[in-house]
Amino acid sequence: MPSYVIPEKCDGCKALDKTACQYICPNDLMVLNKETMKAYNQDVSMCWECYNCVKICPTQAVEVRGYADFIPMGASATPLRSTDSIMWTVKFRNGMIKRFKFPIRTTPEGAAVPEGGYPTHTDLDSPALATEPASVGLPEVFTLKK
Ligand code: SF4
Ligand code: SF4
Repeated sequence: MPSYVIPEKCDGCKALDKTACQYICPNDLMVLNKETMKAYNQDVSMCWECYNCVKICPTQAVEVRGYADFIPMGASATPLRSTDSIMWTVKFRNGMIKRFKFPIRTTPEGAAVPEGGYPTHTDLDSPALATEPASVGLPEVFTLKK
């Protein structure tokens, strides 16, 4: 089931250039209605329910109605993200609520080193990935000889 926005909770990300849900959606599905300042999913048939917009929305305005085998009718699974962890609030059909909190980073926010600190090359014709061969611990990238 695709994502949907609860209008009462959406504040349009306070009129930033690009809303958080627009920024994060890998399919560019989320758009902002500039008149109402409410976001919406513009093509639900293209939504793959990745939950990115659900996780990033600062006001918890986006939800995905899960498939019945994953989330039975009357139940819900709601994520709340912070800078170093994510907490899932799981509501069962009988009303029982459980919360699960997991770390989501191994470094402080903003401290990640680009390319892991490995030297990169910009040769687009090379079969090597940008940080190879150093990042795989080899002296060179081995390829099939023609
Ligand atoms: S991220 Fe949330 S609050 Fe911001 S525009 Fe999208 S739905 Fe609205
Ligand atoms: S669930 Fe994923 S694909 Fe669907 S609108 Fe949200 S970010 Fe885009």
